[in-house]
Amino acid sequence: MRPATYFPSFNDLTRSGAAQERFHREAAAAANAQFGRKVFVRAVVEVSNFCRQNCSYCGMRRENRELERFRADHEQLAEMILEHRPPSVTDLNIQAGEDPKAVRDVVVPLIRAIKRETNLGVSVCLGSLANDLYDELQAAGASIYILKFESGDRELYGKLESPGTFDERLARIRYLASRGWSVSSGFIAGLPEQTPAQMLASFRVANELPLDGCSVSPFIPGDETPLAESGSADIGVTLNSMAALLLMRPDWVIPAVSALNLAEPGSGYRRGLRTGANLVTINMTPAGMRDDYLLYKRERFIMTEEVILRAIEAEGLEPSEVGLAQYYATRRSHRSQLAVA
Ligand code: SAM
Repeated sequence: MRPATYFPSFNDLTRSGAAQERFHREAAAAANAQFGRKVFVRAVVEVSNFCRQNCSYCGMRRENRELERFRADHEQLAEMILEHRPPSVTDLNIQAGEDPKAVRDVVVPLIRAIKRETNLGVSVCLGSLANDLYDELQAAGASIYILKFESGDRELYGKLESPGTFDERLARIRYLASRGWSVSSGFIAGLPEQTPAQMLASFRVANELPLDGCSVSPFIPGDETPLAESGSADIGVTLNSMAALLLMRPDWVIPAVSALNLAEPGSGYRRGLRTGANLVTINMTPAGMRDDYLLYKRERFIMTEEVILRAIEAEGLEPSEVGLAQYYATRRSHRSQLAVA
C-alpha cells in the first residue's frame, strides 16, 4: 500500500478564510486525480434501532427509554429496494443499532434477496458482532464492513462509552480486513472538550488501520443523550478534517455525511462535496421507521435522490456508474496482480 506522505497538523484542522479554501481545493484536486469527477451513490436502509451499546453521543443508546424500538420486515424492505430504488443507486448500505437478532432475522435474508435479484454491491454497518455473524453476512454477499473507531484517543473512547474497549474495536477492524472485507471506518469531529492531541490521534489511528475508506462525522448533540446540551462541531473543523484525510490518503473513499447539513444548515453538505468527498447516500428507510432511527435530532434532514443529484450537479460532479463494491473488488484484484508480478 502507498506510504502516507502527508500528515495533518493542528494548524491544518483550524484553518479558516482563504487558507481554508486553498486547503479544501487541494484536497478536492487530490480526490479528483484518483477518482475523476465521479461520486459513488449508495442507498441506506436502517433496519433496527435496538442497540445493546450505550454510546453517550447516540440517541439509540440502550438507556434511552423514550425511543420506540423497531425491527424491519426483510420481505417488505426487499420489495421496496427491488421495485423502488432510484436508478442512480449502485450499492446498498444496511445499518442498524448493535442488534445481533436483527442481523440474523432481517439483514442476512435481505442481503440474500438483494444479491439474488440485483447487481447491487452491499455494505453493512452493524457494530461489533461475533465472528460467525461476520462470516454469515459475507457468505450472504456483503463485501464492505463499516466499523467506526469514533475517536483515536483511547481515554476519550472509554469516556464516551463507545462499544467495548478501544483496543477491541481496532482489533475487530483488523480482523475484518484479514477476512477479506473491504473495511471503512470513521471518527467524530468536534467531540466535546476534545484536545488538539486527541483530534490528531484520530488521523494517526486511521492511517495505521487497513482501510479502504474513512468518514468524518461532525459531532451533533444527540436528543435524549447525556451530551444533549453540548455544542455542535464546528463545520470548518469538520471540513478541514475531511480535507486532511483526503490529502493523507487520496486513495480512500470519504463520504459526504448528511449531518454536514446539521452542522451548517443549507450548505454543509455541498461544501463537503466541494472538499472532495466521493460517496453520497440516499436514505431509503421507510418513513414510518426513520423517525425512531435516532442518531442526532428527532427532526432529520432526509437525503432523497433529488436532493443528492442536485447537489452533485451543482458541484460539477457526476454519479459513478461503477458501484463502490465493484470498484473495491477491481482495485483489490489489480493490487494482488501487481504484488504477484
Ligand atoms: N451500531 C453500529 C456501530 O456501532 O457501528 C452502527 C452505526 S451507529 C448506529 C451510527 C454511527 O453514527 C456511530 O458509529 C457514530 O459514529 C455516529 N453517531 C452517532 N451519534 C452521533 C452524534 N451525536 N454525532 C456524530 N456522530 C454520531
